[in-house]
Amino acid sequence: MNKLFVISGSSGVGKGTVIKQLLKTNNNIKLSISTTTRNPREGEINGVHYFFTTRDDFMKAVNQDEFIEWAEFSGNCYGTKKDFVENTLKNGQNVLLEIDTQGALQIKEKMPETILIFIAPPSMEELKKRLIGRGTESEEAIQKRLSCVEKEQENSKKYDYIVINDTVENAVLKLEEIFRKENNE
Ligand code: 5GP
Repeated sequence: MNKLFVISGSSGVGKGTVIKQLLKTNNNIKLSISTTTRNPREGEINGVHYFFTTRDDFMKAVNQDEFIEWAEFSGNCYGTKKDFVENTLKNGQNVLLEIDTQGALQIKEKMPETILIFIAPPSMEELKKRLIGRGTESEEAIQKRLSCVEKEQENSKKYDYIVINDTVENAVLKLEEIFRKENNE
């Protein structure tokens, strides 16, 4: 029951929606809240979606070794606090990180027992459609995020599981199956 799971996926693939749905019905999975230097999007709450911080404070935390992993993605820094992960695992609960592929591979190197899951879109066209359709990013930010996709797909080859997000229901079912299998249930 106390395993570390990582979910990654390109911007717009719908991982946020899938994870939200997964957590609704699986209360043995605790999601880590990341720290970021990105500005909050409309509706995002500090301490709920992210801990929003300045680059100075972020780098201070890096120097004090507070992050289990951190990475720069599309011009902003994102990191996972060590404390939360270690304490939750000690409490006998599964921890879920929703982080980019660079951070995921850092963790796998340090903790090889970590289970990496990559959420893939049904097609590249669909990914573009979803990213543009959600309307949260400027044209420039969209292009920047799309330019990461190739590298993300390359990195995903090192993942333990690939889940195609064709529909949210299907993706959640597949994730539940992976969690059950890895927890020997
Ligand atoms: P967004 O700005 O869309 O919320 O997130 C951008 C990317 O940063 C996504 O791929 C997301 O998974 C990743 N991300 C979020 N939190 C973390 C973190 O703590 N560490 C790393 N390495 N990536 C993160």
